[in-house]
This record gives sequence, structure tokens and C-alpha cells, in this order.
Amino acid sequence: MSGLTHADPLAVVEQRVASGERLSAADGIALFESKDLLRVGRLADQVRRQRVGDDVYFVVNRHINYTNVCRNRCRFCAFSRAEGEPGAYTLTVDEVVGKAREAVDQGATEIHIVGGENPTLPYASIRAMIAGVRQVAPAAHIKAFTASEIACFAEMEKTDVEDVLSDLKSAGLDSMPGGGAEIFRAEVRAEVCPSKISGERWLDIHRIAHGLGLKTNATMLYGHVESYADRVDHLLRLREAEDATGGFQAFIPLAFQPKNSALSHLPPTTGVDDLKTLAVSRLLLDNFLHIKTYWIMTGLKPAQVALFFGADDMDGTVVEEVISLMSEAGHGQTVSKAELIRVIRDAGRTPVERDALYQVVRRYGARRGAASDDDGECGVAGDGDRHGRQSPPVAEPGARGPGAGGSP
Ligand code: SF4
Repeated sequence: MSGLTHADPLAVVEQRVASGERLSAADGIALFESKDLLRVGRLADQVRRQRVGDDVYFVVNRHINYTNVCRNRCRFCAFSRAEGEPGAYTLTVDEVVGKAREAVDQGATEIHIVGGENPTLPYASIRAMIAGVRQVAPAAHIKAFTASEIACFAEMEKTDVEDVLSDLKSAGLDSMPGGGAEIFRAEVRAEVCPSKISGERWLDIHRIAHGLGLKTNATMLYGHVESYADRVDHLLRLREAEDATGGFQAFIPLAFQPKNSALSHLPPTTGVDDLKTLAVSRLLLDNFLHIKTYWIMTGLKPAQVALFFGADDMDGTVVEEVISLMSEAGHGQTVSKAELIRVIRDAGRTPVERDALYQVVRRYGARRGAASDDDGECGVAGDGDRHGRQSPPVAEPGARGPGAGGSP
């Protein structure tokens, strides 16, 4: 074994994976440093197949970004503005509720609400926003507020995070997204997001949410100033947190988008790095069932290829996403259900529409015309789901909504 370590570190990792052994930090580094992308991808694909089979999940959802005013001004963020700066906006409670109503009318099962840390927005409005959305969308799942927003609300209210989360839960909050994690290591945060909550605080808030019965997601923003060791440290801290609580639903690696940020001098991530990071995430996070490829950051075609590198979830229809829009990610703001089904099928996998808690809303045949296929002539456009609701209007990938953003 030690001979293999020097000659072929990946052989050691492959042996560990084959015997179901948990991978170490050194294994994670070896995977990241490997030049053999396809070998790393094959290993992740094998683990993905063992864990979740050939199903690929997606959700009919809508993102609502209620404000881009933020006191933190993270250096990687192209979305935030100072109060009064050109382009700064804050939606009213009625505007947020109106967008949620529209989403439900279009068949969304999940409403995803995030924004900046806006100290001028009273907590009463935040609560009213969730209560209002709950009223117009009684059956939809409300996933809202990153850990840093929750910390901001607690600070404004001079109370603790548990109180805020319990109160928002009573107003209608169902779960939390995974944004704000960035890279946990303090040295990296000091460089890219010095005003944001610490990595420890982020993990702590998610643990509190899990303790209250709220599921959450987790993310990692990679491709800026961090090292492979920082990425591995981040993933292992998430794995440890999941061991302790079992409250994470999915992990989403987010590729840094340098355009229009204070780090615009840095190059964007490459396709190789995107795929390798996804694969290493699948391999290190052995206790996370779902690994998501976020097409809005990478584009739909790379996201389809990511299904061969450990991903089993393509997120959703999204509709509006201002965070990537402001960084000119250039991959559009919405994709139709028909298009998601088409790309999943084209990868030879089975499209499964899910709700926010990964309960199956509808399973589609792996191929049009397959025995389990019940979606009619053209795939999906215009058909309803098991609740009799209609699909959202079909929009071309690349079509842009009027603007607002989110963290998955
Ligand atoms: S990443 Fe979030 S917390 Fe940081 S500046 Fe942007 S909106 Fe604010």
C-alpha cells in the first residue's frame, strides 16, 4: 500500500472507495492534484450510481432576491450594493408575495428567497414576507435566508439565532439554502469576505436549524484565492457536521464568477476544475446523498456532463436569479422543465421531478416512449403534475428575467 501511495496515489483512493472506507484529507488532496480527470470522474460516477442510482432530480422552483443592499460587500460578490448606490433595490413585501403567487400559478413547488444583509430592512418586514408567501402559497416549500442573513436578523433583533429561526418557522419557513459558506478557513475569509460571519458560525447556525427540524443545503464557493487544502478542509468540516446532525439535504459546489466583483482580476474557473471539484465533493462527502450541479453558474451543457462526475441533481427552473446575472455568468435565468428533462434523458438517465425535500413529484421515462414514460408527445410542455398544476411557461435557456438572485 505504501508503495502505491508514492507511485499512484489514486490507486490508494480507489482501494479505499472499493472497500467502503472513508477518505482522508490526504486522499482529497490527491484527487484534486490528479491530472487524470476521467479517472477521478469515473470513481465519483461509480459512487453516485451506488448511492442514488440513475435518477437525476430537478425541481420546479422560483428564486426571489428581495434586496441586493448588503453591509458586507464581500470581495467576490457582484450582486451587492450600498444603500442609495445606483442599482440598489429592495422589494416590498407585496412585491415578494406577488412573485410567489405568480410562481405558484406557474406550478412551482419551491419558493427560494435570499438577499443581502440589509440593516435598513426591519425584521418585521422579513417575517411579513414569509407569512405573506405562506398565505398565497400554502402548499409550496419556502426555502429562505442564508446563515449570514439569519445572523443579521438576530443581531438587529438583539436576540439569538434559535429565536429567529423558530419565529420564521412559525411564519412559514420550511428550510434554509446553503449559501454563505464560501470557504470556511478563516485566512481565506479574511481575504474574500472579511465582514461575513465566520465559517464556525455558519456551521453553528446550520446545526441550530437542524435541531429545530429545518433541513438545509451546503455550498462551497471555489476558484478564487483558496488552495486545494482549503477546499478539502471545507468539505471535511461539512462531512463532520452532517455526521453530527443528519440535516443537510444537498451539497452544491459554486464556481466563482469574477466579472464585476472586486476580484475581477482573477481568472474564472475552468471546465476541468468544475468537474473535478464536483467529483471530489461526491467522494469526500460520503454522507451527503445529493450533489447538485448548478447550471446557472456553469451553463446547461457542462451541467449535463457533470452528471457523469458525481452529480445527481440539476436544481431547477429558477426563473429569476440576479446574483449570477450581476456577475454576467451568461447562462440565463430560467430553463423550462421540458429542457431539463431533455438534457437528463440525453445523458441516459432518468429525470425525476422532486419537491424541496426530495420527495418524488413525478418520474419520467429514461427515454421518450419508455414504459414508465407518461409525459405525452412532446416531453412535458403544457402537462400538469400530480397535483393537477400546470408547468411554468416554456422559456428558452438564455432568456433573462427582470432580475433578482439566490444561493442554492
Ligand atoms: S455574498 Fe451575500 S453577504 Fe456577501 S456581499 Fe454579497 S449579498 Fe452580501
